[in-house]
Amino acid sequence: MAKWCTTCDRPVEGTTCEVCGHSVEEPTREPVPWRWRFFIVVTIIYLIWRLYQLISWLSH
Ligand SMILES: [Zn+2]
Repeated sequence: MAKWCTTCDRPVEGTTCEVCGHSVEEPTREPVPWRWRFFIVVTIIYLIWRLYQLISWLSH
């Protein structure tokens, strides 16, 4: 799998960029599912909070 130099914005063969000399890290995959899980958890907490407010409003 080709690596990517973020400084030059070009693909790099090997571990070092031939243009700028930066060592290129392995492409890290964005933890999109983790963000989605975090978003879902926040949404659930928000819904529980709204439900709690509704229940406390109804009990008055
Ligand atoms: Zn470079």
